[in-house]
This record gives sequence, C-alpha cells and structure tokens, in this order.
Amino acid sequence: MSEQSTPLRFVHDALPQRVLFGAGQASEHVRQEVERLGARRIMLLASADEEQLVTRVAERIEPVLVWTEIAQHVPVDIAVAARAAARAASVDALVSVGGGSTTGMAKAIALETGLPIIAVPTTYAGSEATNVWGLTEAERKTTGIDDRVLPVSVVYDSELTLTLPVALSVASGLNGIAHCVDALWAPRADPINAALGAEAIRALAAGLRGIVADPQSLAGRDDALYGAYLAAVSFASAGSGLHHKICHALGGTYGLPHAQTHAIVLPYVTAFNVDAAPGAARRLQAAFGADDPLAGLVALRDELGAPRALRDLGFAESAIDEAASIILPSVPPSNPRPVDAGDLARIIRAAWAGTDPAELRAP
Ligand code: NAD
Repeated sequence: MSEQSTPLRFVHDALPQRVLFGAGQASEHVRQEVERLGARRIMLLASADEEQLVTRVAERIEPVLVWTEIAQHVPVDIAVAARAAARAASVDALVSVGGGSTTGMAKAIALETGLPIIAVPTTYAGSEATNVWGLTEAERKTTGIDDRVLPVSVVYDSELTLTLPVALSVASGLNGIAHCVDALWAPRADPINAALGAEAIRALAAGLRGIVADPQSLAGRDDALYGAYLAAVSFASAGSGLHHKICHALGGTYGLPHAQTHAIVLPYVTAFNVDAAPGAARRLQAAFGADDPLAGLVALRDELGAPRALRDLGFAESAIDEAASIILPSVPPSNPRPVDAGDLARIIRAAWAGTDPAELRAP
C-alpha cells in the first residue's frame, strides 16, 4: 500500500456519477434527474416486494413500463425478457428502486441497450456505484465491467431503508465492509480507494451500530447509506479480490443469499490474508479502532449479531471441494498470500462450520 511504496506511483480511475443524498427527498430527486436527462419514456424496475417504496419514489414521474420480475444474481432468461420489454416500449431511461438485485436487472438492460440508469438503492449492497454487471446462467455467475451499466445518477434516501429488517441491514452493511476490506488486496488497490474504504468502514460500523440500537434511527441509516456508497466506490476502483471471487461462486453456483454470504465469509478471508498484508492490516486496525484488525472485525460482527456459518444458509458440506475448484482459476494474482485449492477448501470449510476465523491466520 501507499505507505510502503517510495516514490508513490499509481493510476486511479474515478467513475463519473451524480449522487443526490437526502432523507425524504427521493421522489423529488428522481423527478429532477429524469428532467435533467430529458427522458420521456421511463421503465421503472422494482421487485413486487418493494411496491410500497416504489409508490413513494415514483410519485412525480409517469413510467410507461413497470418491471417487477427481479431475482438475485440476475438470471439471464429474465434479463433477456426485460430487455425485450424495454425495446418494445421504446424506453429512454431506467429508474431502479431496490437492492442490488433490482439495480442488477437495470444494469443487464443497460448493458445491451445503453439506456441511462437512475438508481435508487434500498440496501447497502452498493451496486449503484459500480460499473460491474453480473448475470447467472446454468448455475454459473459471470461478471464483467462496462461503463454503460454505471448509473448516471444515484438517489439515496435513508427513509427508504427504514423497512429493511435489522438482520438484513446488518448483513448488507457487512457486504459493504467487505468491499472495503477486499479492496485493500484487490488487483487495482491504490491509496485513494484505500482511503475511501477506511472512511466507509467507519461510517458503516457507526451506522450499523445505530441501526441495531434503534432500527428507525435516520442518523444510523444515513451513516450506513453514505458508507455503502463510499465502500462501493472503493470496490469499483480496486476490483474484485479473493473475498469477492469466493462469494461470487457461492452465490452464483449454490444460490446462497448475497449479503449474508459476504457477512459470513469476510472474517475468514481477512484472517487468511491479513498477516501477509501489513499495509492493509494497519489501515484496518485504524478503521475498526482495534489493536488487531481481525479481532476488530470479528468483534463488530458479533456485536451486530451477524450470521456466522454457511451451513445455516443451507450450503452443503459435500460441496466444499467442488466450490474450491470452481473458485481457484479466478484467484487474483494480487492476493498477498498464495492460495491453492486446499487453502480455499479450508477457508470455505471454516466459514461453513462458523469456527474461529483466527485459526486461518498465517502460521
Ligand atoms: P437484494 O436486492 O436481493 O435484496 C434482498 C431482499 O431485501 C429482497 O427480498 C428485497 O426485496 C428486500 N429489500 C430490499 N430493500 C428493502 C427495503 N428497503 N425494505 C425491505 N426490504 C427490502 O439483495 P442485495 O444484497 O441488496 O443485492 C444482492 C445482489 O446485488 C446480488 O445479485 C449481487 O451480486 C448484486 N451486487 C452487485 C454489485 C455490483 O457491483 N455489480 C455490488 C453488490 C451487489
């Protein structure tokens, strides 16, 4: 990391995006952005479960098409149908209201059509701030980078997150923290994305503590949303590290829920890598405000009551070796500690059982 490289040399790309942040302001901000784009034929995307949120957000626009078929990890067949519907309705902009799955569906449409996206996130997944798309076909998740899928505008309104259950808020927030931690050893790690990630960890940790203490606290929800954005910017800039490669495979192939999987796996990847990455360790120590970075992360996880074991999500022990072999070819060369199939199996087994993450630290 930066402290160790003399002279300091790096190339950092920042993504162009407009962010409008304000509790209770989503419908006005969406209207403004639709007007700014000059869009007249809006396709609104939101899962049927998020209908109440959508009604509030869309009260100042008149969509020509409302798409409610949303599924995690964006199955290709649904994406194909959504693109066809967008074309048939001559849509000129997409407004997505929901979590990462809804944003992901809008991205799948934009990937082929180039339509601009106004994203209104209602979880802490952060997909709205990245140019990363994901599609799942035949139990394999494919991800890619394309600037066409980066939402042109992001509208954050913490009132929309008040209905997100505490357990899901915690898991989703730890998904955000995972973006920051993994960014420290990701392929394009640099001092800028590391600095954003450190501030994001502080904001997310404070926000999640606030939400657990009082789920209706807008201050906690604001902190968490702000942190989720910074975390995603950090991740988009640094790229996917080992943690994200593991979680992509677990989600895409075994259908595990995204946020909970990230929340469970993060301490294990951190334990595996942290002693081989002293610069990252120092940043995490400071961000978690702990003497030991892993202990700081685990203490936060436990304080928040986050999920701990993949077996509780229905992941089968018999799938561990297969999962390791699927992940192995995608392990980034930037990982600070060499990784073989046996290491991956040990990481996944420990996460499956929910054993003490510290057992995976470098000897
Ligand atoms: P999600 O969008 O699937 O939402 C989880 C559940 O929460 C759903 O049932 C949803 O209806 C509900 N929900 C969402 N907002 C709510 C609210 N405010 N109140 C009540 N319920 C609400 O889950 P997620 O974790 O946000 O997103 C996961 C997906 O996003 C995965 O497919 C993942 O791959 C993708 N993702 C992509 C990127 C990227 O950069 N491309 C980044 C992060 C996540």
